[in-house]
Order: sequence, then structure tokens, then C-alpha cells
Amino acid sequence: MKDYVEEIGDVLYDYGVGLYANITNRCPCRCDFCIRTMTSGLGSADSLWLKREPTPEEVIEMLSDWDLSRYQELVFCGYGEPMVRLDDLLVIARYVKENTHLKVRINTNGLGDLLQGKPTAPLLAGVIDAVSVSLNQSDAEKYMELCHPKFGIDSYDAMLAFTREVKKYVPSVAMSVVGVIPREDIEKCRDIASSLGVPFRVR
Ligand code: SF4
Repeated sequence: MKDYVEEIGDVLYDYGVGLYANITNRCPCRCDFCIRTMTSGLGSADSLWLKREPTPEEVIEMLSDWDLSRYQELVFCGYGEPMVRLDDLLVIARYVKENTHLKVRINTNGLGDLLQGKPTAPLLAGVIDAVSVSLNQSDAEKYMELCHPKFGIDSYDAMLAFTREVKKYVPSVAMSVVGVIPREDIEKCRDIASSLGVPFRVR
């Protein structure tokens, strides 16, 4: 395991009660609140800045070396947007579903369809157990100001559409905001999540 960390960086890490997979540092957003602008390490990881992206085979080997017995879930979440590497993510997730007891969750900004240039929600069916979408703000303009998505103003509606769609394919879908936005925006976001029929969390 140590060889991997020296060559690639921290890919798997403990955070709270979960096991997390940091498979990319690429992201189409530049959120003002992004934790990666504040600290390099998180949980058991010294640094989530990768020297290079791990191949799916390398992540699977890391997982097979790791003691998974104390976890319930593997969460794709790191210093980047995991849906950037959707094909590789699905290879890893399939391995986890077929060979371990872990559930698989993706924490995403919800821009996978724009990143991949195609509908991504159907591809998650039967492989991903849970998706948590970062709603982040209560309308498209405020979202632009806070998250600076490279796809522009259409990103917000794309994120909402992905959330609506992925509910058809993934058993557990939720939305969240970071508690740095004004109270009234948090309440509007709560209403948006409610209108989409998904649980809402302030993180
Ligand atoms: S989407 Fe996530 S990883 Fe990307 S900038 Fe925002 S908080 Fe950071």
C-alpha cells in the first residue's frame, strides 16, 4: 500500500465512519467553499492531491489490500468530481458490488451529463446504491456566482435534471448544501429538494 501512496497519492481514505475513494482531482467547478482550497489532507489522507490518477485496476488492488470489514459503504468523493471518470468509476463499483459487502455511493456536483455528453443516470442502475448531489444554491445565477461551473448558466438546470432522472435508477438519492449560504437560500434549497422528492442535508 505504501508504494501506491508514494507513487500516486492517497486514493482510499477513512473519513468519519466511511471509506472514501479519491480517483481524480479534475472538476468542472471552482466552488468558493471547496475544501481543497483550504487544506490538503482529510480524514486519514495526508494529501488528496494525486500525483497521477490511479487506474481502475490499481484501485481494485488497493481495495483488496484494505481491511473492509469495518465499513458499510464506499463513497466516491475526493478533491475532484468523480463523474469525470465515469467509466473507470463503474468498473471499480462493479468490482465492489460483486466482491464485497459494501454499498457504493457517489458524491457528485450533478454535472455528469454535461461532462460525459450523454445521459448518465441509466448507467448507474444496479451498480450504484446511493447518489448525493450538491445543490449548493437556490437558483442558476447564485449557483454560477458560488460554483463557477465551466459549462455556464445551464449547469444548474442540468444538475436538477440529473437528480430527477437518477431517482429512476438509484435506490437512494439526496441533495445537500454547504451551510455557508444565507439562511433564506438554505430554506429555498430545502423546498427544491422537497419538490424533487429527495432528502435534504446541510453539510
Ligand atoms: S464541485 Fe466539489 S470538488 Fe469541485 S470545486 Fe466544487 S466542492 Fe470542489
